Amino acid sequence: MSYVAGKSVEELERELGISGVKLGSNENPLGPSPTAVHALREAASSMNRYPGVEMDDLRADLATAVGVPVEHIVVGCGSCDVLVAAAAAVLEPGSRVVISRPHFKMYELSALHAEAEIDWVDSVDYAYDIDAMIAAVREETRIVYVTNPNNPTGLAVSAADLARLLESVSDSVLVVVDEAYMEFADTPEFPDAVAAVRDGRNVLVTRTFSKVYGLAGLRVGYGIGPVPLVDKLRRLQPPFHVGRQALLAARAAFHDTEFLARSREHNASARAELQRRLAALGVRVLPSQSNHVLIVGLDDVEVIERGLLERGVIARPTEASFGLPGCVRVTVGVASENECFLQAFEEVITELRTRQAEGRAQ
Ligand SMILES: *Cc1c(COP(=O)(O)O)cnc(C)c1O
Repeated sequence: MSYVAGKSVEELERELGISGVKLGSNENPLGPSPTAVHALREAASSMNRYPGVEMDDLRADLATAVGVPVEHIVVGCGSCDVLVAAAAAVLEPGSRVVISRPHFKMYELSALHAEAEIDWVDSVDYAYDIDAMIAAVREETRIVYVTNPNNPTGLAVSAADLARLLESVSDSVLVVVDEAYMEFADTPEFPDAVAAVRDGRNVLVTRTFSKVYGLAGLRVGYGIGPVPLVDKLRRLQPPFHVGRQALLAARAAFHDTEFLARSREHNASARAELQRRLAALGVRVLPSQSNHVLIVGLDDVEVIERGLLERGVIARPTEASFGLPGCVRVTVGVASENECFLQAFEEVITELRTRQAEGRAQ
């Protein structure tokens, strides 16, 4: 088994010879932070040099911003790197992990790699069933995964639910809270997971520069966790693990609060519009707290995907990547991209409905 990534524009171009809009990988449609681009350009001419102080500078800034001593921060090549390293550090053959479906495949892959067993929990109407997750924890359980907001559903776990989960599991269980999309959440119910780290709980919060900061290509992410775990993860990293230019760009992006605010505002309004217009087409869309929306309950997802690709639109059917049939995930794009998607989607489902009606009439 391996991770199934979304299609790139280059792949679409090679396969169908058409140029397209990519709304399949939850990237920032506004591009990277201009400040980060500037920092990267400035740093380009020194790429003959190994990295030096850049990782510690970034760690220090992250620590200050989230309110923990710097010893709690580990920076990796994307948050996937931190997630995989944490699983490798914590799990051994025979350990168990709890994963709620639908899920981000990296948890499953890293558990399998560590020869751990997985206890699967089913969602209820796409949302986490926190009580079932608590009930799935056994003596051998070493990790419980929570993605907040979730991918692909876009749903958020409330502060009350996360608190209940944390109260119910012992400190021999690491609760991994993957917050790749936390910057997009705007509900007052959204939990402060880092507070649990500050309280000394066995919690690892992971975040990334790939999504709201628009630096997916540079591969920088980080974890906030207990000092012994963070120490272990840091000691296991090869020297010069993350590139200097990537670290400098990430730090610049982190301080570009104007870009951050603009990205979040754009996402919130375009997401609302996308949800409203999709609902008007008579499909069900989950209420998203993220930078993507999930259309659920679809028939013939393969036909829909094909129809969208032929119209130059890359979205993400969720069966191959997330084991979730009958759904299509679409990233919130800029206005013109969202229009392209909505128009293509309307055409495709209208055709499908006509065909289904004809099928029934025969
Ligand atoms: C995108 C994403 C990540 C971030 O991956 P990076 O390695 O930081 O690019 C992590 N978790 C989930 C659920 C994601 O969707």
